[in-house]
Amino acid sequence: MDDSLLTHIEAVARTGKVIVSADDCSVVEMVKETITSGRTASFYLTAEQARTVKSWYWTPERIELSGIKVVTDQERTRIESELGLENIGSFRCTRIQCECGHTYGAFEFLQQGIREHGADAVRAVFALRNSSFLRANPALLAICPNCSQLLRGGGIEYDCDGYGGCCYQE
Ligand SMILES: [Zn+2]
Repeated sequence: MDDSLLTHIEAVARTGKVIVSADDCSVVEMVKETITSGRTASFYLTAEQARTVKSWYWTPERIELSGIKVVTDQERTRIESELGLENIGSFRCTRIQCECGHTYGAFEFLQQGIREHGADAVRAVFALRNSSFLRANPALLAICPNCSQLLRGGGIEYDCDGYGGCCYQE
């Protein structure tokens, strides 16, 4: 391990976060266990590790039940023009219907992400090239932008090549 890598690890540890290094199989098992346990954690995985976890998680039944869908051309245009996010690639997510009739989907999710974390942080995640940011059981409270209601079952799930969020609900 070279010195510059250790410098980065030191910087991460200073923030109170931890870095775990293990073989692919152990990492994948750790992520699966976290997802099924319901605990919340964020993982920066290699593309291959992320692919393995997602192919285990996204069974045909789960895809069907969750209603996860890639953004429509219309959503993509709004996300680009109103939120200024150009590179959302294959982003797909589930939708939640609010009691007021408004649908909370990709646009609302990314808009809320920008409001809470800033546009640069959201852009940086989509710009990741070597790692895939995967959140297990993300504690996201979806808020309807139309009526400000907290959405029940706020567990929106999303996925794309560089960025995924899995919720486990059995
Ligand atoms: Zn609403």
